[in-house]
Amino acid sequence: MLQLANYINGRLVPPTAGRYLPTTEPATGLVYSQVPASSAVDVEQAVVAAEAALPTWRRMPAEERGRLLVRIAELLDRDLERLAQAESLDNGKPVSLARSVDIPRAASNFAFFGTAAQHFASETHFQEGVALNYTVRHPLGVVGCISPWNLPLYLFTWKIAPALAAGCCVVAKPSEITPYTAFLLSELCIEAGLPAGVLNIVHGTGPEVGQALVEHPGIKGISFTGGTATGAHIARTAAPLFKKLSLELGGKNPNIIFADCDLAEAVQTSLRSSFSNQGQICLCGARIFIERAIYEQFKAQFLEGVASLTVGDPLDASTRQGALVSEAHLQKVLGYIALAHEEGGTLLAGGQQVRLQGRCATGYFLQPTVFEGLAPTCRVNQEEIFGPVVTLTPFDTEDDALHWANSSEYGLAATIWTKDLNKAHRVAHALQAGIVWVNTWLHRDLRTPFGGMKNSGVGREGGVEALRFFTEPQSITVKL
Ligand code: NAD
Repeated sequence: MLQLANYINGRLVPPTAGRYLPTTEPATGLVYSQVPASSAVDVEQAVVAAEAALPTWRRMPAEERGRLLVRIAELLDRDLERLAQAESLDNGKPVSLARSVDIPRAASNFAFFGTAAQHFASETHFQEGVALNYTVRHPLGVVGCISPWNLPLYLFTWKIAPALAAGCCVVAKPSEITPYTAFLLSELCIEAGLPAGVLNIVHGTGPEVGQALVEHPGIKGISFTGGTATGAHIARTAAPLFKKLSLELGGKNPNIIFADCDLAEAVQTSLRSSFSNQGQICLCGARIFIERAIYEQFKAQFLEGVASLTVGDPLDASTRQGALVSEAHLQKVLGYIALAHEEGGTLLAGGQQVRLQGRCATGYFLQPTVFEGLAPTCRVNQEEIFGPVVTLTPFDTEDDALHWANSSEYGLAATIWTKDLNKAHRVAHALQAGIVWVNTWLHRDLRTPFGGMKNSGVGREGGVEALRFFTEPQSITVKL
């Protein structure tokens, strides 16, 4: 059976205690590999290696650091097919999605930050005849990067690449549910010639490896993406240690569809924003608010689209809906479907587990599911389900739509569909969401700040924001 290893001090090593966890292929429900169940001892070794590598790495010219990161990007591109297969196997996502989104984006993360580091300038504030004030941005030091299972390599590299570009050394922990591509990345880092200790990848559970990372006094900052409850726990642990924290957490994103939109495009993109990656993207729109004048029309076209979303083997190139990531997650989502019935919702599509034939007969498949008739305040419309379940709700006025969109403890992303430019800007500014898309979804420019308001997180990733996070500003004043 495939056995994964930690990547510590430039080498692939087994966990010190020799313990492993099984990892399951979601499409079959069968165990296919073993991932190290590392402990605080392995984290300690990784931190020691990172601290030893730091003085050289931080002094290396940004151009040279950048060249190594670009080399890793090239290797990710070279191995795109192998990595896409691995991501699909490990996560249950359609291989077509891993091929077109996850792996190309992981490569872009390295290429983008590899070059961005060379354009990261410090500021000068000149007071004529009085003083010259300038800011030096020192690398933060050794930092911890912790990522979730839904976009495994994509989100893992979205943290690691800017940290390395900024001159930090990293101890990173991927999700124990989807560790495979992080392991493959460690092999590519060795091939790229990344100096030993600059990046260390320690596999294991959150309560053991994640907790040890967050508590370790040598770790100066934590960049975390995951659930809001885990984020709160990490904040409670890290705050008294005065660590810098970036928290990218859950969402319950609204789509607002105005009657003057391009209906065909709004329907097609809403299908994607509802069900891509089986709804397991933090940016998926879970609450679709539709202006009453086009409610029935939108509903009919949307349901027609849902009917064409066949669920199948993720490794089949034509599959658009794969498996949910785990049995536990499938049960959680089924629990919300039961709750939607209890809360008085009308099931319009799906709602059932899917039993496929052949190799995937015991996989974790679920029909894309749509409800209507649920109050915006009910639990199904308030809590993050993180699966292929969306609700449709009509609205009468712009104020109503805004009110319901904002009546959530979350504030990650939102989409607006309208041809009225003034309305688009007005509504976008009033939305409590860190990311707003107008007439599109998931359009990404890696230079833009990425993150959420309210319980969706603290801080922003992306572009200069990420490089700032991984550096400590120092202000120096010279009297003239
Ligand atoms: P999770 O919070 O269970 O786990 C995320 C990571 O944290 C994993 O690596 C896990 O092992 C680790 N972890 C768990 N307990 C820990 C602890 N005590 N200390 C340190 N680390 C710990 O989240 P998940 O189920 O893997 O991912 C799904 C969640 O992630 C959803 O809520 C989703 O919205 C969110 N998410 C947010 C974004 C974003 O950018 N805002 C992106 C993707 C996913």
